[in-house]
Amino acid sequence: MKRLELIPDVVRHSIGGELVRSQNGETFDNVNPATGEVICKVSKGSDEEINSAVESATQAWKVGPWSQYNQSQRSSLLRRVGDLILQRKEELAELESLDTGKPISETLNGDIPRAAFNFHFYSELCAHQVSPSFRSDDGSIHTTLREPLGVVGLITPWNLPLYLATWKLAPALAQGNAIVLKPAELTPLTAFAMHHIFQEAGLPPGVVNIVQGFGGASAGEALVKHPGVKAISFTGETVTGSSIMAAGAPTLKKMSFELGGKGASVIFADADLQLAAKTATRAAFRNAGQVCLAGSRLLVEESVFEQVISIVKSEMAQIKMGDPLDPSVTLGSLVNLEHRNKVASYVEYARKTKGHEVIVGGRIPDRFPESSAYFEPTLIKVDSQASRLIQEEVFGPVLTVQTFNSLDQAIELVNGTKYGLSASVWTKDINKAQFVSGKLRMGLVWINSWFIRNLHTAFGGMKHSGVGREGGQYSLDFFSEMKTISQANPMFDAPTKTWI
Ligand code: NDP
Repeated sequence: MKRLELIPDVVRHSIGGELVRSQNGETFDNVNPATGEVICKVSKGSDEEINSAVESATQAWKVGPWSQYNQSQRSSLLRRVGDLILQRKEELAELESLDTGKPISETLNGDIPRAAFNFHFYSELCAHQVSPSFRSDDGSIHTTLREPLGVVGLITPWNLPLYLATWKLAPALAQGNAIVLKPAELTPLTAFAMHHIFQEAGLPPGVVNIVQGFGGASAGEALVKHPGVKAISFTGETVTGSSIMAAGAPTLKKMSFELGGKGASVIFADADLQLAAKTATRAAFRNAGQVCLAGSRLLVEESVFEQVISIVKSEMAQIKMGDPLDPSVTLGSLVNLEHRNKVASYVEYARKTKGHEVIVGGRIPDRFPESSAYFEPTLIKVDSQASRLIQEEVFGPVLTVQTFNSLDQAIELVNGTKYGLSASVWTKDINKAQFVSGKLRMGLVWINSWFIRNLHTAFGGMKHSGVGREGGQYSLDFFSEMKTISQANPMFDAPTKTWI
């Protein structure tokens, strides 16, 4: 893979192992959000591209060499892909930062190594999968085997493009499926690069097809509705998940949804305040708050409010906003102007609505080009749980702070939104930490930490934050059908019969 191939004039789809343009010739601009400049054009996929991608995936799964791959071969292939991602780490990090506006320190040390690890991790799990077997009292033997689903659709968002695409690609491949991936239209580059990586790794044609383009009323929707697609694994906004669920219902698709979040950092008075406030600041502003697990709400016990806020302010003052490709920068631009304006409108709402106080930031910085999508790191004190800033996913560098006076009130505030993805509980009292974690309706609870993760564990949200779980064996379960094979043994003088 030569470096320049990664940013062509026109990003094309990868269908049947070939790079192809859209049949109708349509393209759209891929814009660098930190400058407003066009990076390249992107082929805009439509029903035609989805149809041919599904057709080629069906061939690959049913009759191509992929259908003959055993577990060990799939495991080796996944390892090779992980190795190639690591070999291309610098280039991929640069592409991701160009597309998203995210600091290179995050893409180089976070997103891209994690994308490689997703493949290495599932390579190991794939190699060591075993099936449960039982002998019944009548001597019959029963084995439950896992088989591929067939053609699966993966739909991914723009905030962690390669990280999340590989999080789905690796387990789907481990289970022998063929894939159609529809990346977010705002971030096509690293998905495009994966075409080259899969080729270099020797993946048979048609096993992974990548259709670039838009979601609603376009390629994404066509993928969801396609009768040849057995399952959809989707990560994105809650409202999108809901419409995908409806669109996939007529064809009875299996679905897995990782949706929006409204994470909270809850700091009790007996916590290590320095560590808690410092980590809570990081939780709010990593990737400019465009992380589903972001701790976008800070809840502080009233008696330590001033202390905590002073640490948060001093941490915020150290955030370096600037060119995402500068290794010393810790806050890049948001993903595009439209999203930046949406974030700015929430701050405007706060300024105009009683019960809000903008403590830090809240402006569009004027030292960057007008067409760039930067927004200052912002801290807003909010009095009412009903505020839109508390109830809605702002998905930007905006941290709200609320106070509480009791354990019960803290729990009520954390649980008091429609989301249920994640929360961090900060206290030195382990009994309190365990009690509060038990009461939170969140898929992930961190105690005195944030963002730590073991890929074997279940990942996903409660309430409006998701349906199903991904991670370790959970993803392997999602991407497979289970088949039970039972064999009678008349040589046994069965004391009992086993009935269905
Ligand atoms: P969107 O829901 O807007 O889009 C996600 C993907 O779905 C994109 O590829 C999009 O295409 C596509 N899409 C949009 N509409 C449809 C449709 N009707 N049918 C099929 N596909 C469709 O999410 P964002 O890209 O804005 O991502 C941010 C969101 O993702 C946040 O809410 C965040 O919390 C959530 N997220 C959740 C995570 C989790 O694990 N719970 C992890 C990361 C993010 P296109 O955009 O190109 O039109």
